[in-house]
Formats: sequence, C-alpha cells, structure tokens
Amino acid sequence: MDLREEVIKIGKELVTQGLVVSTWGNISVKNGDRSFFITPSGMEYQLLEPNDLVLIDLDGNILEGHRKPSSEMPLHLAFYQHRSDITAVVHTHSIYASAYSVARKPIPPLIEDMAQVIGGSVEVAPYALPGTRNLAQNAIKALGNKGAVLLANHGVVGVGYSLQEAYKACLLVEKTAHIGISAQLLGQAVVLTEDEVDWMRKAYLLTYGQK
Ligand SMILES: [Zn+2]
Repeated sequence: MDLREEVIKIGKELVTQGLVVSTWGNISVKNGDRSFFITPSGMEYQLLEPNDLVLIDLDGNILEGHRKPSSEMPLHLAFYQHRSDITAVVHTHSIYASAYSVARKPIPPLIEDMAQVIGGSVEVAPYALPGTRNLAQNAIKALGNKGAVLLANHGVVGVGYSLQEAYKACLLVEKTAHIGISAQLLGQAVVLTEDEVDWMRKAYLLTYGQK
C-alpha cells in the first residue's frame, strides 16, 4: 500500500477507535531518510485523499503538496531529527491518557503489552502551547528512547519503527491509562518492576512475532 494511503487508513482508525475527535490529532511517516509525509491541517480524515498529505524535508521545508501541513509539524520534525530510529509519529487526544496528562502524572508500566511496546512509563512533557518549538523540545526530552510521551493538558504522541507500531503505541497507552484509573478505583495499581519491563522490552524487540 502507498505510504500516504496507509496514513489515511490509520487516520480513519483514530476516529473510529475514539482516539481523536473530528480533525484533531495528526500522523506522519518517513519517506526514505530525508523527508516525511504529514497530514494536512484541520481536514476530516474521512475526506482525505493521498495528495492532501504534505511532504516535508528534515529541515522543515515543504517539498510537495498543496495543503497547509498539520500545525504540529514542528513536533513531528523534532522527533525525526532527534530519533533517527523511528519512522512514524502518531499524535492523539485520547481520553484516559489525556486525564493523566491533565493530572500531570506519568502512566506507569502496568500491563505487559504496553511495557513491551513503550519500554517503561509514559512521562509527561511540561506544558507548552500547541504547535510551538517549546512543545517539541519538551516532548523530545520527556520521550527519551521510549515509544510514547504525554503532552501536558493535551494528549499523547506515539512513535515507532512503522506506522502500525506508532499507532499501536497510542492504542496501548490509552488502554493502560484506562486500566490504571480502573485499578486505582479497585484499590491499587501495582506497577511492573524495571527488571520485568526491561526483560519484556528486549524480548519484544528481539524475538516477538515471526522473527
Ligand atoms: Zn494535539
């Protein structure tokens, strides 16, 4: 499937899975080593066509496209500049994860699938206004080498080695936030230990699936 079609497919899934409402959130994917496709600003995912996506180089210049890129383009750009290992970035405003971002509390590694894909707790980047370089810098610092980060009072960014992986990171962050809040209502949320998380993360990266 064409990369741009894959982006549109995931955009529609963000809406149907309830990770974003209407036109919010944004998605990008690397196109070779030196550029990435990103969703346009303020357009309904259901109506997107491949040529609505905008191609940006790693200095932030528009290479192709007739639309205005997502207002969070600087965030995506900063992620690709600082994490050469990732090829996709998905940003959502999902509800339970956003609750943690409003409480300014990291989402701990509470459940195995999330521990494998994220590699530890999802930290909260200090608040900065949307679309700003400050937001991008805060997010990069809080992301570290993990698979996702929370933006204070805003939402989630998931990254990955493929679009599916970045999307999966967002789904698992939301699932874990929901579990965390539910477990606390039951009395306690026991966090996996660092050793357990490290073991699972390594196993996931090295041997999980058809490797
Ligand atoms: Zn946002």
